[in-house]
Amino acid sequence: MSIQIRDLTYVYSENLPYETVALDHINMEIRDHSFNGIIGHTGSGKSTLIQHLNGLLKPKSGQIIVDGIDITGSDVKLREIRKMIGLVFQYPEYQLFEETVQKDVAFGPLNLGLSQENVEARVREALTLVGLDFSELADRSPFELSGGQKRRVAIAGVIAMKPKVLVLDEPTAGLDPRSHRDILQLIRNVHEQEKNTIVLVSHNMGDIAALSDQVFVMEKGKLILSGTPREVFANTALLKGIGLGLPPAAELMEQVRQRCADAPRDVLTVEEAEQQIVRWFGKDKKC
Ligand code: ADP
Ligand code: MG
Repeated sequence: MSIQIRDLTYVYSENLPYETVALDHINMEIRDHSFNGIIGHTGSGKSTLIQHLNGLLKPKSGQIIVDGIDITGSDVKLREIRKMIGLVFQYPEYQLFEETVQKDVAFGPLNLGLSQENVEARVREALTLVGLDFSELADRSPFELSGGQKRRVAIAGVIAMKPKVLVLDEPTAGLDPRSHRDILQLIRNVHEQEKNTIVLVSHNMGDIAALSDQVFVMEKGKLILSGTPREVFANTALLKGIGLGLPPAAELMEQVRQRCADAPRDVLTVEEAEQQIVRWFGKDKKC
């Protein structure tokens, strides 16, 4: 499922003294089956942008075209859009509310009007996909679980609706390193298994570089840069100028290069850094 965003503008508190232009003429294309990373400083408009993707916010102007249909049109049913595009909010565990894990994950699929049997199958599948044991956890209260488990339950609730586009707003924020790794792995697994389109908002440049096909950089409501991770992270000065880092391996090589100008460029991942450094040391290194 592809999404085209055309000239999207959104203003909070319009005509009030504290009016904020949160999105300023954004144009972007999200391709079918692709993995898209969105980065940007706090307040740059990332959350506002993704809340437009499932019709939660209505633009001041512009269009959002999902598989050829403009979802900002007044005749479009939001229920249909939300069936196709699933949004995992930041800190989604705060929205858990049912008395059992099973009921919480079932909430979305039940709203889609699926049969009880179908819903149960979806709940089992979604919990397995997020790495939780159905038989162990189905009847437990979500409130008794650990932070990482709660977050997985909340993500399972969206996955169980089998959205064609899965949008996640900083899904690893505030997690310990192990839960962070697990959540990323589960996003990868869902992408592979469901063959869906992913839109991931993250502050972690290493994750974005490792996972994304396309990266979009937001700054003060504008889309200032987009491209493959390699294209985007080549803009070191621009990214640093807006307070964003580089993926750790790229940052390391950048530091080395400041001492030795012939150190390898164009390094994104730890594996690449390792290969390039070995090759570099094999050559006639100048310093
Ligand atoms: P990000 O997700 O990149 O941190 P947001 O989309 O949350 O950015 O915010 C973009 C801008 O809109 C910021 O200036 C923020 O202060 C403002 N903003 C966000 N939500 C609201 C709101 N509910 N009311 C008023 N202003 C808001
Ligand atoms: Mg945000």
